[in-house]
Amino acid sequence: MTAMLDCYAAVTGEDVIRHLQQLAEPLKGKSVVHVNSTRVGGGVAEILEKLVPLARELGLDTRWEVISGDSEFYQCTKSFHNSIQGDRITIPETLLNHFLEVNEQNANHLRNVLEEADFVFIHDPQPVALLKFCSKRKGKWIWRCHIDASHPYRGTWRFLDRYIRDYDASIFSLSQFVQLLPHPAYIIPPSIDPLSDKNVDLPQDELEAVRTRFELNPEAPLITQISRFDRFKDPIGVIKAYKLAKQYIPNLQLVLAGGTATDDPEGEVVFNEVAVAAGDDPNIKLLQLPPDAHRTINALQRLSDIVLQKSTKEGFGLTVTEALWKGKPVIGGDTGGIRLQVINFHTGFLVNTPEGAALRIRYLFNQKQKMQEMGIKSKEFVRENFLLTRQLREHLTLMVSLQHGAGDRIELG
Ligand code: UDP
Repeated sequence: MTAMLDCYAAVTGEDVIRHLQQLAEPLKGKSVVHVNSTRVGGGVAEILEKLVPLARELGLDTRWEVISGDSEFYQCTKSFHNSIQGDRITIPETLLNHFLEVNEQNANHLRNVLEEADFVFIHDPQPVALLKFCSKRKGKWIWRCHIDASHPYRGTWRFLDRYIRDYDASIFSLSQFVQLLPHPAYIIPPSIDPLSDKNVDLPQDELEAVRTRFELNPEAPLITQISRFDRFKDPIGVIKAYKLAKQYIPNLQLVLAGGTATDDPEGEVVFNEVAVAAGDDPNIKLLQLPPDAHRTINALQRLSDIVLQKSTKEGFGLTVTEALWKGKPVIGGDTGGIRLQVINFHTGFLVNTPEGAALRIRYLFNQKQKMQEMGIKSKEFVRENFLLTRQLREHLTLMVSLQHGAGDRIELG
């Protein structure tokens, strides 16, 4: 085993790594390309950053390409994102045409790599039309949807469906998100990398340095939500929940930390709305962090007593996984991928309103023993289900199955 695989084996057990090696064997030397629209910010970049090197380590010739676009393009793709998650948005035809032009320009740059690759994974709607401009493609193309597509606005879905239907397979994070398509749909939830700066254990002095830097009181309880400033993450609902809970826990502190993703044009506007809602309460720390602040986020999650992810829509919610891995109970919105991770009374609580969140915050601070027990369960739950090695195993299985053209069975060796 290589040094990198040894490090993963120390967390997952050797069997998990041997299984990966077995699955990778028939795919050795195959070229795999992942394409998304941002190198930093948001969950997709977070996953690819780690999935790609681990796949390489197993002998797959894997690379990661990022498409580029202008502000009109991102305005259009953010509308795709919001309307796939249910907002009724009619996108003007000029923007849709621009979206196609940008895909064509990117295809012109990437055509050789994409047409030659054995497997191409296209992440989310931004690069979905690349396939249309790669008519001589040789390999299998997979559309990977990271968004809650359970109730897409039909106008948007009809437009995207024209491009998605030409793929060989789709991946959704939950069965509830699957749409009717003329190819196989795979259910593969995302994952976190236990060895990344975002998730490794941190020394106590580093935790203390972060506590001091953000003027957090070590004696006072702390709740945190880490998220892009996006309305579906409901940062205003988090502030409401904090204010309600604070009536019973007067020294409660709240950290709301986020950054911007280069493919998300709404961050600044939402941040300003959140700043108004936070007012001048010195116990609310509203932080805008740079995209490489992984250890800082790691420390904030570890310093917290409870982590919130009060989203009203959530494809998966890596922030939930990250918090559970650190042994923190999570109070999460009862939606999408959060439901896969937050199990009431075991790893946290699912809530629908700020009042519900406040109630659970109070419950947990009154039940310190329960909080600890939940934290222990949370970490093991992630180890079993949501580590990078599991996601890669499922990607390898998918590739083997597509390679052999077996719809309902996979043959190894
Ligand atoms: N994240 C970050 N900085 C921030 C906000 C979020 O590094 O300011 C990370 C967060 O730790 C997580 C990812 O970005 O790994 C967000 O993924 P998630 O699935 O929770 O939400 P998405 O942004 O993809 O909707």
